[in-house]
Amino acid sequence: MIPAIRGTHDILPGEVERWQRAEDISRRLFERYGYAEVRTPIIEREELFAKGTGETTDIVQKEMYAFTDKGGERVTLRPEATPSLVRAFVEHALEQRMAAPKVYLFGPMFRYERPQKGRYRQFHQLDVEVFGMADPAIDAEVVDLAWALVAALGIVGAELVVNSVGCPACRPAFAAALVAALGADVSRLCRDCQRRAQTNPLRIFDCKVPADQPVIDALPHSLDFLCDGCRTHFAAVERHLGMYGIPYRVSHRLVRGLDYYTRTTFEILAGGIGAQNALLGGGRYDGLFRQLGGPDRTGIGFAAGLERLVLAMPEPRRSERRRPLFVAYMGEAARDAALALLRDLRRAELEAHMEYEGRSLKAQMKRADRLRAAFTLILGEEELAAGEVSVKDMATGGQRRVRREAVVEECRALVNGGRE
Ligand SMILES: [Zn+2]
Ligand SMILES: [Zn+2]
Repeated sequence: MIPAIRGTHDILPGEVERWQRAEDISRRLFERYGYAEVRTPIIEREELFAKGTGETTDIVQKEMYAFTDKGGERVTLRPEATPSLVRAFVEHALEQRMAAPKVYLFGPMFRYERPQKGRYRQFHQLDVEVFGMADPAIDAEVVDLAWALVAALGIVGAELVVNSVGCPACRPAFAAALVAALGADVSRLCRDCQRRAQTNPLRIFDCKVPADQPVIDALPHSLDFLCDGCRTHFAAVERHLGMYGIPYRVSHRLVRGLDYYTRTTFEILAGGIGAQNALLGGGRYDGLFRQLGGPDRTGIGFAAGLERLVLAMPEPRRSERRRPLFVAYMGEAARDAALALLRDLRRAELEAHMEYEGRSLKAQMKRADRLRAAFTLILGEEELAAGEVSVKDMATGGQRRVRREAVVEECRALVNGGRE
């Protein structure tokens, strides 16, 4: 057989239920905060990400699935969602058409990285963006939404870190201070950092090389270089976070190196054993619309890797588990009656299964076990003659007869009553 492409993965039954649960919970939460779903193509012009993600980023330089299509156009599979959402927002004049300029997206993203455990070339993100709102209250709302998402998914021990990277007015002084502070230490840093010190010193904070970390930890803090406007904005964001009662830590290492990222940046880290992993990250990007040739609009949002969220989610509570029904029958005459019952249960929006292969009752009960049926409804000649159905509780083994006319309602009560 032909195997799947390296770096891709199938999401199979047994696992896909967690994905569906993560998506359902997220969707309901986003809609409650006034966000509307947008679905954009997974293929876009290469230029959109060269400009929107940044020419100098590793993503654009090394990791894009970019190619020339049969019409001679340079296209790419999307490596992230934000530029696509900005494009769609401008292209369809959503500012005029939407009740609020708040959007979300779920979908696969593509980056040609070295596949590692838990890291894929086709991975999945959820993405949330707010356009055209500069008030610091919206920064806090987006952070609150991210925090609420992690809580709604049942993930415990997460930690929120925030920072401000300033704006084009105050950032040059910060960049100069970084270079000055590094001084002769630059030659002791990794090759990438030496290059960053020349081209874009802020990106030194992206370095993961352990030997470089003591030098990087001692670098100046962006917060000490904010202009008045940026300082007031950050103070207001902090005040709102305090008002919402969201615990956070300021991390001067949370720096985005590209020019169109402005002011607020944040991450939510997964707690637990070992290295802290970012569950999601986001921030303000007030220069991106202009960078893409669009109108002068602000933007803020966050993206989360669904693979990571799904992994961090706990097992569903008992009350959230499915409680399927199984219809078993004995003898050909009961088969038609069983089929009619199966249909009635499904029409009543109950999950119900049946074995069609005419196996023994024992084999049917085995199937019911594999399906983790909560109750099995048994129809034999005796039940048929009496106009009844035997209802077996699969957890206790207890069995009793119920009138056929009443059995669908009875099942609904049993299935829902079993929930906490
Ligand atoms: Zn500033
Ligand atoms: Zn380095």
